[in-house]
Formats: sequence, structure tokens, C-alpha cells
Amino acid sequence: MTYSAKLACFAGCPERYALDEVIYRCRACGSLLDVEHDMDALAGRSAAGWMNLFDRRWMRTEWPYGSGVWGKKEWVYPDIADESVVSFAEGGSNLLWAERYGKSLGLDELWVKQCGNSHTGSFKDLGMTVLVSAVREMIRRGRPVRAIACASTGDTSAALAAYCAAADLPALVLLPRDKVSIAQLLQPLANGALVFSLDTDFDGCMKVVQALAEDGSIYLANSMNSLRIEGQKTVAIEIVQQLDWEVPDWIVVPGGNLGNVYALGKGLLAMQRLGLVSRLPRLCVAQAERANPLYRAFVAGFDSYAPITAQATLASAIQIGNPVSIQRAIRVLKATNGVVEQASEHELSDAVARADRTGMYNDPHTGVALAAVEKLVRAGTIGRKERVVVVSTAHGLKFTEFKRGYHLGALEGVTSEHANKPIELAPDVDAVRRAIDARIKA
Ligand SMILES: *Cc1c(COP(=O)(O)O)cnc(C)c1O
Ligand SMILES: [Zn+2]
Repeated sequence: MTYSAKLACFAGCPERYALDEVIYRCRACGSLLDVEHDMDALAGRSAAGWMNLFDRRWMRTEWPYGSGVWGKKEWVYPDIADESVVSFAEGGSNLLWAERYGKSLGLDELWVKQCGNSHTGSFKDLGMTVLVSAVREMIRRGRPVRAIACASTGDTSAALAAYCAAADLPALVLLPRDKVSIAQLLQPLANGALVFSLDTDFDGCMKVVQALAEDGSIYLANSMNSLRIEGQKTVAIEIVQQLDWEVPDWIVVPGGNLGNVYALGKGLLAMQRLGLVSRLPRLCVAQAERANPLYRAFVAGFDSYAPITAQATLASAIQIGNPVSIQRAIRVLKATNGVVEQASEHELSDAVARADRTGMYNDPHTGVALAAVEKLVRAGTIGRKERVVVVSTAHGLKFTEFKRGYHLGALEGVTSEHANKPIELAPDVDAVRRAIDARIKA
């Protein structure tokens, strides 16, 4: 069987483009593009056949199929040459049963998909492996691409730099000055990317990088890029696969530019179409209250959407006021009876701290999602018997300044109720013993 995919206009124009064309928007109407698979060809294999194939490849060594993304190659980029694939064995992150934390919220089954347990510490690896591999394929087929560029809130650039370094391709990274964590700045520097620190916000960096990419020799890696969505959608398949092919009731994901929620929805809809699942979970996008354009649109019944100027938030990777994938997100939220919830700076920090106390080590974006779950459980929207999966988007270790600020009680707008400070004492056994006895029951 030959499987194939093309780029189609998201708004429905009839034009189609090859996956190796340097193109980001429909030439007829300017809409975003969407990778469209030959679903009839994919339907030529039974649902059980796909599940067996995916299970057989899962976390094994046959290259590149041991990657969580490339193990689903036929659904991602079917006709890319294996030699073009740049992979760090991304995907396959653990689905953690957050038993103690979930029970503290009254939920029996709260699961956290740990996408931050990945090569560069965020889910961005899942999309970037596809994008950089696709560019290598373009170059192999004779396209004159000389570098790949992105604007970033910190994690996209880390992923781009790492995959480009592995492929020996130049990476250009545009970051908003002082708005990414130290780790996020150091990652692309260490991997040898050309890093520009611009005195603006993410939306400002985006304008510059789009202009740079106009002549086609610099390829644009931002999330308008539909190739990344194909890699990211494998998270939806993995979650169901890791639940022994059972569908959870909810999947909750923090959202900024909103490509990831669209990817989740796209993966779920493909599984439904091909019979791997018979129903869909409800999707929830969690936004920071200070960067909540989708939340505002949701409250208005999705009848009106207006970009906003995002305020500074601890959840810096989702500080986006004009999300490029807004229409994509609304489409999948409607298709899954989805909801949007928001979290204040205090709520997200508090959720992180309480979840950390149960052994996790969360980043602030996952905190936004955890806070959203708490609010939806309290409101009765999420039932206590429902099975909930939170997509954790990054590793807490990338956000040391946030953790430090919390435990020192130094975050603006946040009351650090669960701060834990080191106890400074002389190296005296009795003093240490007294400190222990004062804090831990005999
Ligand atoms: C990119 C990112 C997000 C937001 O994903 P979108 O696809 O832009 O909605 C959330 N959390 C982290 C840690 C990210 O890096
Ligand atoms: Zn179009």
C-alpha cells in the first residue's frame, strides 16, 4: 500500500501543494495549510492492524520507528526517505498516574503525560523532528534552503537548535530579550545556533522572522508551519495507546499559539476516522489569565475573537496575544465539545507547588493546566469518576528562576503558601536534631 500526504488549505480552497514545497500559507486565500493524508489508503489497514503495528514499534530499536513520532510515520509523513529523518528518539514519554495529587482534588484517575521528559525538555521536539527532517528532504530534492529560523518563547528555539545541530544545518533563533528562562537561552547557544535577542515580545520577533523568510532561502519553523502539527499529533495517539487503547474522558493542555491543541484534536479525529477509537475525549485548553484571547472567545460562545496584548506571565511560553492557530483551535474544540479555562498567576503557582509536594516537578505551563483541572472539578464540569489526562508541556528543570522565586516568596501576585526554604544551621548535631523534632512527628 502506498500512503501519501499533501498540503491543503485550512479554509477549503481546492489547491494542493507537495510536502517538500517551501510554503506556509494558501496561495489563493492566505489561510494556514494543513497536512492532508490519503485517508482511504490509511483505511486500507484495519484499526487492529494499526494498533498492532504501533505497539510492535513502540520504544524499540529499529530506526527510526522507535521514536514515538516516527513509529507512526505513515500517519505523519509517509513518503519521507528514512535517510532524511533527524530523530532523538522523541516521544514515548511516560504517562504518569498522579495518584496522590489527583486524589487531593477528588479525582481517582488523573494522569500526566510527561512531554517535558524529552531531548530538549519540552513537547516541541515532537514537531521539530518532523520539520527538520522535512527540510532535509527538501534539500535532498534540490530546494535551495540555507537555514531554518524561528521566533520563540523559548522552547521552540531549543528544539530547533538541537535538531539542526544534529543535521548540520544552520539555525537562526529570535528571542524576546529577558522573556525566556536562562536554560532556554543557553540551550540554543550551546547547540551553536545564531541567537538574536531582540528588544520586543514574541509577537514582535514573529514579525521580523516572517520578513526574513520571505525569499524562501530561510525556512520558517514557527507553529503556523503545519509539518510540526503532524509530529505533535502523535501525543494524542500515544495517550490512548498508553491507556491500552482506551479513550480518556478529558485531555487538558496549556495553550498559547494553539498549535498543540489543534494537533491533539487532529490526532484524535484521525484515530476516530480509522476506527482506533469509537468516541472522543473532551479537550480543554488552559490559558494564563494574562494571555487569554481564546478564553475570552470561548466565553463569548466563539462568536467573536479579538487579539489582545498579552501581559507578562510566569507561564512565559504561552504569553501570546494573537495566536496563529486560533481558528484551528476553535475547530477542534467544537468537534470535541471542548472548553477553555484560565488560571491566575497565583492559581498556577499554587497548583505547581501542591503537585510538586506529591513528587512531581512541574513547569508553570503545566501549572496552568493543573489549576484549570482543579477549577473544572470544583465547578462540576469534570466529574470525579472521569479519567483526566493533563499534557505536561515542559520539564520543570527549565524554569529554575520560577521555582526559586516561588520558594523565596518573591513572585509578584503570588502568595507562596507552600514555600520550602533550606534550614541554615551550624554543623551541630543537636541543632539539626532539634530542627527535625520541631518539624516531624515522633
Ligand atoms: C509552546 C509551549 C506551549 C504552547 O503550545 P502552543 O502550541 O503554542 O499552544 C505550552 N507550554 C510550553 C512549555 C511550550 O513550550
Ligand atoms: Zn485557501
